[in-house]
Amino acid sequence: MNQTFSFELFPPKTEQGMEKLKTTVSRLQALGPEYFSVTYGAGGSTRERTFAAVEWLRGQGVETAPHLSCIGASREEIGEILQRYCNQGIRRIVALRGDLPSGAGLGELNDFNYANELVTFIQKEFPGQFHIEVAAYPEFHPQAPNAWQDLDNFQRKVEAGANGAITQYFYNPDAYWRFLDDCGRRGITIPIVPGIMPITNYANLARFSDACGAEIPRWLRKRLEAYGDNQQAIFDFGIEVVTGLCRNLLEGGAPGLHFYTLNQAEATLAICKELGLGAAGA
Ligand code: FAD
Repeated sequence: MNQTFSFELFPPKTEQGMEKLKTTVSRLQALGPEYFSVTYGAGGSTRERTFAAVEWLRGQGVETAPHLSCIGASREEIGEILQRYCNQGIRRIVALRGDLPSGAGLGELNDFNYANELVTFIQKEFPGQFHIEVAAYPEFHPQAPNAWQDLDNFQRKVEAGANGAITQYFYNPDAYWRFLDDCGRRGITIPIVPGIMPITNYANLARFSDACGAEIPRWLRKRLEAYGDNQQAIFDFGIEVVTGLCRNLLEGGAPGLHFYTLNQAEATLAICKELGLGAAGA
């Protein structure tokens, strides 16, 4: 089986951040990933910065998949962005609903309420132009009323024409395997690639996990807490744990791995090296 690897970046705010991104890309590029993806702030909050990062990556000849979130955007705006990407030779999009910042209302604008509507729009307005990835939630989306409705909603995105999915990160592989079983029972056959979050900074990870509904299992949380501010110990332990998770996923037949790099190369490189992937394994 051909297992693919991809790396996610966010669009930096500063020149210095952009330099860091460039170094990260050149180090990770050596692993031969399928593509790099670039996040897009909901409501267009990172629009120009996402464009800048995507443009730089394309200029380097790097396979690039921009994320596109639709909440709070008009059909016209989404259409213009897709046309721009089409003109740049981009062939893969990560299609999302996104979350508006708390307190921000949709106002009159609700051209898109959910990601399945964005997928339908892309397939209708740009037929066959993009390979469309959508988000999947093995531990379920925090706003979903229940697990089955969340699966129904995931299925809607697939039926609207998604070609693949990337999961929210998780540290419990059983959640992923069960999610895959449920999808299989529903006749969903698109590749569902696990999203992998390396563990480097426990405080940030804990905060982010609470917000996005990803669970840090108690045994892992307790051990990470016990390291206190010993960042090196957290890093080393994180590499060991996440490499074990990746091994479980790859050996179990996951179609690949998508790393949330947070624009840092070290942890992803270390995990890939342990796994023997690409040039990192050499
Ligand atoms: P949806 O699939 O629309 O689901 C959102 C919620 O609505 C779920 O609870 C679902 O069950 C429910 N739902 C879906 N469709 C329907 C329907 N038709 N009727 C009723 N209920 C429905 N956010 C960003 O802002 N920018 C990014 O770049 C970004 N990248 C991401 C990449 C990945 C791989 C992942 C996993 C997430 C990313 N996110 C990003 C976060 C994402 O935007 C949030 O998780 C958001 O809350 C949901 O987006 P979605 O596309 O999964 O939404």
